[in-house]
Amino acid sequence: MCRHDWKKIVVTITVLLCSVPIMPGGQKSGTISANGQVARCPASTYVLEPAKCVPVAYDADVVVAGGGFSGIAAALATARQGAKTVLIERQGAVGGSFGPGMHFQKVFLQDDPNTYIKGAPYDYVKGEVTAITREFAENFFALHAGRKSCSLADSKLCSYMTLKMLKEAGVELMLCCYACDPIMQNNKVCGLFVENKSGRQAVRAKVVIDATGEADICRRAGAPILRPKESYHEYDSHAPTGIGIWAIVAGIDGERLDDSKVVEISWKEGIDDLAEVTCDGLRKLAPDPSLRAIKVQLVRPHPKVDAGDAKHISALEAGIRKYVIDFVERCRKHVPGCENAYLLYIAPYLCARGGPCIEGEYTLTMPECYEGKKFDDVIYVYGEAHALRWQAEQKVPFKWTDVPYRVMIPRKVDGIIAVGRSASCIPDTLLRICESVIYMGQAGGTAAALCVRNDVEPRDLNVKQLQKKLLADGFYLGDENRLAELGLRQ
Ligand SMILES: Cc1cc2nc3c(=O)[nH]c(=O)nc-3n(C[C@H](O)[C@H](O)[C@H](O)COP(=O)(O)OP(=O)(O)OC[C@H]3O[C@@H](n4cnc5c(N)ncnc54)[C@H](O)[C@@H]3O)c2cc1C
Repeated sequence: MCRHDWKKIVVTITVLLCSVPIMPGGQKSGTISANGQVARCPASTYVLEPAKCVPVAYDADVVVAGGGFSGIAAALATARQGAKTVLIERQGAVGGSFGPGMHFQKVFLQDDPNTYIKGAPYDYVKGEVTAITREFAENFFALHAGRKSCSLADSKLCSYMTLKMLKEAGVELMLCCYACDPIMQNNKVCGLFVENKSGRQAVRAKVVIDATGEADICRRAGAPILRPKESYHEYDSHAPTGIGIWAIVAGIDGERLDDSKVVEISWKEGIDDLAEVTCDGLRKLAPDPSLRAIKVQLVRPHPKVDAGDAKHISALEAGIRKYVIDFVERCRKHVPGCENAYLLYIAPYLCARGGPCIEGEYTLTMPECYEGKKFDDVIYVYGEAHALRWQAEQKVPFKWTDVPYRVMIPRKVDGIIAVGRSASCIPDTLLRICESVIYMGQAGGTAAALCVRNDVEPRDLNVKQLQKKLLADGFYLGDENRLAELGLRQ
């Protein structure tokens, strides 16, 4: 064989080795780190993904993963401070649980705007409604939304008005786009790999905001995660991990409908030995009496369910949708007024009320809400609904709780801030309330923009600077004495 042929064989083998996944077989123990980085790849349970060049879709200052209320508020806050902002959302519309998810009860509505803005009874953040929360409310009411019982229909208006606000603020939107792995440099997140119709793309950013509702990005970055526990039921009858889906039923004869019969025919159904689901009736959906809403949700508590587990979510999506169809069929057969009923619409995905969240530099707990704990790095002042109930039972005056900046900062990983339902709390449902997630989103976005401007890591941000900006934007951080104590007033 001539020298030339040898050279050809070596080149061929090299090309083959580089283009085919390499499995170092025979290894008994895996050495895959929490963020999927590979030291050794056991062939029995893993496939080594070949390295490839991924095109950069955007070079941004801030990228926000998740277009729910927390992500929208975060993106608006960063963009309005001049940071080049990209928002990534896996659905075709923004709003998250309150948009496509249609979980729209009790959200700054069902009252007239003035009552709401002056502080409705279910106003969970202390102070007059301000900042982006107030803008949301005003834009929302301007669309003639917020009518009693119209909540599901209003979720479409919510998607519309928030989309308009994002566009006006100059936020770049990537809809129908899944935020996958973080781009890592050692322990720092420097952007996101995303998947969409174009394939795999990269979005580079100076700061990443995890607004996925389940801390998906932080988890993949290797940050420590708090998973819901059965014991959380002690604090919140909905915990751990309330999950549900909304649907709309049409063709109902409202005059003949017997609501008591609907409740009677409802039943509990098991899904894959994972959880049970049920439905509590046909809810009014004015103004059209032929339409009713159903909410199918897990029978609580359901500690086996992990909202961050793909297998669980897939099984629940399938099982809950089957239940919705069976429920409507049963209504048609057994409930007077439902003979011509049919399923008109079902939300595109299950929404989670709890689930995994980061283990932050600080974890806020329910007992701390009972006692109304104060923190020097307060970003807004919160009144958690179950704490309110507990205080009423104990006959002690209601106490507001400071939400500290550190609940948004994951331990061990830099370059990333977790907002909304992804922030650090026990039980997993503690920081879920709509208004809370909007205020937190705005605080997280404001912090990210300051980090970009000052070239600092989120954990090293001068919190006083953030607090001053939040005060200027109308946030309530305490009374005048407290502000003086915090060094925020002369
Ligand atoms: C059954 C139920 C009832 C509820 N009732 C109320 C109530 O009455 N009042 C109240 O205040 N709150 C209620 N909640 C809670 C509230 O809906 C949530 O706490 C709140 O929506 C959380 O906001 P978020 O922005 O953190 O997350 P979400 O609203 O969940 O938004 C997360 C967004 O991220 C997107 N996303 C997730 N992963 C990715 C990814 N990898 N790539 C791209 N996009 C991604 C999702 O599509 C979604 O749009 C309820 C929730 C449920 C499930």
